[in-house]
Amino acid sequence: MIDAHNHLQDEAFQTCREDIFDFLTQQQVEKWVVNGTTEADWNDVARLAERQSSVLPFFGLHPWYLHEATVGWEDKLCNLLKEYPTSGVGEIGLDKWMRNPNLPQQERFFLKQWRIASEFQRPVTIHCLRCFGRLKELLQNSITRFGALPFLLHSYSGPAELVSTFVEMGAFFSISGYFFDPRKVDKLKVFESIPKNRLLIETDAPSMRLPVELDWFRDCEYNHPGNIAAVYKMTADRFFEGDLQELILCCRRNFDQFANTSEKVSDNSSRE
Ligand SMILES: [Zn+2]
Repeated sequence: MIDAHNHLQDEAFQTCREDIFDFLTQQQVEKWVVNGTTEADWNDVARLAERQSSVLPFFGLHPWYLHEATVGWEDKLCNLLKEYPTSGVGEIGLDKWMRNPNLPQQERFFLKQWRIASEFQRPVTIHCLRCFGRLKELLQNSITRFGALPFLLHSYSGPAELVSTFVEMGAFFSISGYFFDPRKVDKLKVFESIPKNRLLIETDAPSMRLPVELDWFRDCEYNHPGNIAAVYKMTADRFFEGDLQELILCCRRNFDQFANTSEKVSDNSSRE
């Protein structure tokens, strides 16, 4: 199993990180994509990658934290991408749901980060809330100016009608346990439109909690990364006729396409 998107560097995990590492290893979670959100957490993400080879680090500026960026952020990002040759760029994005969104500023940071990702030929992880039409235009602009890259629309909550356009641009889509809440049935249904070869699974831990009856760690204050196994199980039941192994193989192939990790993924496959 692969968790395509989480935030293990979050301080919520400060006191239990070693237990989480042990649990994920026991559960044969072979890759954990850990996303930075602001310059201040990039070193924590890098340290996790040093500590645990299953961690694939992504470094980026999330739309909620753009005001924290310092003058030298671009150089710092480039240096980290150089230092970690298998790393990606993320999480970046557009967010119209947040309080007082400044979309022109978000777009400027998006373009700059796409340009850097393109320079280093790295995959990109994208957060988007309530502005998928604008994201489509921004991606078209980014690709025209700096070239196409594989990108992940994590916890995709956009319309089914845009799926094929995003697929043509190079999109992968990840599903999180949060969408299995009965109140989110419309969002879950959109995943019926997503081609199987573009699907990935994520927890977004510590965010995006599962509905309590499906949460394997319901006593935990936050979404526990170990829930990745629960999300795989629910997704297999809903979209793969219960065939968990088929889903695991499918996502491993897709992840390989997204993150270009064929060597590492096939090395790990002998563990199963
Ligand atoms: Zn996230």
